[in-house]
Amino acid sequence: MIQVENLTKSFGNNPVLKGVDLSVADGEIFVIIGPSGQGKSTLLRIIDTLEVPTSGDVRIKNESLYTHGDGNHHKMRRKIGMVFQNPAIFQGTVFDNVAYGLRYRKISSSEMHERVSQTLREVGLEGYEKRDAHSLSGGEKQRIAFARTMVTRPEIILLDEPTSNVDPITTEKIEEIIRYTRKTYNTTMIMNTHDMLQGQRMGDRIGVMMNGRIVQSGTPKEVFTLPANGDVARFIGYDN
Ligand code: ADP
Ligand code: MG
Repeated sequence: MIQVENLTKSFGNNPVLKGVDLSVADGEIFVIIGPSGQGKSTLLRIIDTLEVPTSGDVRIKNESLYTHGDGNHHKMRRKIGMVFQNPAIFQGTVFDNVAYGLRYRKISSSEMHERVSQTLREVGLEGYEKRDAHSLSGGEKQRIAFARTMVTRPEIILLDEPTSNVDPITTEKIEEIIRYTRKTYNTTMIMNTHDMLQGQRMGDRIGVMMNGRIVQSGTPKEVFTLPANGDVARFIGYDN
């Protein structure tokens, strides 16, 4: 579903990604862990076409995002949704905030209402349509951000530390939403987290990002029992 090929990204003369290779299968949850400042967010932003790589490519279902100019970009962008660490909530009702995800889709108003209601049910906020979005708790806002992404039924969802600013109960709820989404819609996901336990809970596979590369990838069991090198071992607190 997603292939990242020898991707590099520099900001000025600061090389952040130094050749990232990664491939994620249809319906897989791939978790990227690693210390902060290693380029995890930058990688997701490039897959989401919010940032352009310095070199290398990303292929979605075997179609190149970066070697055929802009045309492809926009078509393929629609298959992808992203949830950020801090939910972007704007003035208005919960309905407005979730329906925003559907603004460019040609669907009837009744279908839009139905899709929004269904998605609110899926994130556990049934009946919240008319609430003022700014009056919600931080955890509810993050679930609204999820709903805005989910309402478009993207084939791919990129999750950039979606629970790092919420309480433990919301974290549990969001993890449930992620599992539900994969089970129900077979959505392919890449999730960044600095929480290794979350990585173990959620990842079909885990990739460890260090020094601008994915230095190891494998099942949680493989990564946590056989760290590929001393840096990975130190990062995961491996003790032999
Ligand atoms: P992570 O998500 O692993 O914490 P980031 O991808 O956010 O890492 O950042 C990696 C590095 O890239 C950091 O040193 C950060 O300062 C730098 N960086 C990220 N975005 C930009 C940008 N738009 N301009 C300049 N430097 C950036
Ligand atoms: Mg980050």
